[in-house]
Amino acid sequence: MVKIILNKGKEQSMLRFHPWVFSGAVKIKEGEPKDGDVVEVYSSHNQFLGIGHYQDGSITVRMFSFTKCEINADFWFGRLENAYNYRKQIGIIGKEDNNVYRLVFGEADELPGLIIDFYKGHVVMQAHSIGMHLVKHELVKALQKLYGTELKTVYDKSKETLPKNYSASLKNEFLFGDTGKTEVMEYGHRFLVDWESGQKTGFFIDQRENRKLLATYCKDKTVLNTFSYTGGFSVYAAKAGAKMVHSVDVSKTAIELCNQNADLNNCTNHEAYCEDTFDFLKNKENFYDVIVLDPPAFAKSRDVKHNAVIGYKKLNSAALKQIKKGGILFTFSCSQVIDKFLFFNTITAAAIEAKRKVKIIHVLSQPADHPINVFHPEGEYLKGLVLFVD
Ligand code: SAH
Repeated sequence: MVKIILNKGKEQSMLRFHPWVFSGAVKIKEGEPKDGDVVEVYSSHNQFLGIGHYQDGSITVRMFSFTKCEINADFWFGRLENAYNYRKQIGIIGKEDNNVYRLVFGEADELPGLIIDFYKGHVVMQAHSIGMHLVKHELVKALQKLYGTELKTVYDKSKETLPKNYSASLKNEFLFGDTGKTEVMEYGHRFLVDWESGQKTGFFIDQRENRKLLATYCKDKTVLNTFSYTGGFSVYAAKAGAKMVHSVDVSKTAIELCNQNADLNNCTNHEAYCEDTFDFLKNKENFYDVIVLDPPAFAKSRDVKHNAVIGYKKLNSAALKQIKKGGILFTFSCSQVIDKFLFFNTITAAAIEAKRKVKIIHVLSQPADHPINVFHPEGEYLKGLVLFVD
């Protein structure tokens, strides 16, 4: 196994279990590691620090073990079993009215570079590192052992999440089974999930608890769900007795599935619009009691952070200007590079611009199947605020 030796003092973050080795920390590579190779990391005093996947780039090693062990089928099974047991222990797995959850959330599950979502026996795997993609067949075997006959499908959807030079010749593909979509249940709400043609792994599982909270504010209200995708928030609002729910998304396929999901839940109080949110929000003054803003990540990297802040301010200010007096605004950002303080400040700036009085009534985050490893704060990405607008 190739040994990566760090510069003096650079072992401190590893000793605190931070799972990334940055290129600047590396002093010597003993051997010639290739992208995706399993390597051992040592301090400048030759102290063993851990084992991880090597990949040429600013994050040079993603650590998945801080103890010496063999990296074999048992190891990968053990990691998946831990992830499963954690979710079982906190009650996400085994709920009567829920059969969709994130089984693996990268660094939080000591599997950096790997996402695995579970949709009622169908599993979608997304590798963000070459090393995790190279062990995909071991992971399939581990999933089979973990779920037994409950496992119907494993779909690898990594083409868009891996470095271009590696993924150019890749395609998204079934590694087991061949089902492309299914119907899942989330807190008793029914949703069709299509992982082949849908966005990300097919469904935004991370908004589960926030959708549940939205339902508590919707009875007899006129609700607007912007960036609705397949209608996650909309179905909760409609089922909770909203007077009317409007979904808006620019994607035609998302709107089609959104309508199907509304039908599946017998929502007669729902209409969907395939339109740009900024255009839709024009001329809607004093019409909506409740508005949801859940845009895609406006900033995917640090260099575009400033533009993203301007985007969030513009969007929130537009919604704050239109919402009824006494209205409730659910506003989110899933851009990892926009931290919660910057997001909150941006919302304040939007409130100033919209000249509305605003109170924060809930501070929202990501759910327990997307936990934040305290030694890897970079895993925190979803932020939300529920605002009372006068
Ligand atoms: N709230 C959703 C997830 C939103 S994902 C849920 O709970 O499932 C973001 C969505 O925004 C995507 O469906 C994308 O098609 C849509 N989108 C991106 N830009 C948009 C725009 N300018 N106007 C409307 N929708 C947009």
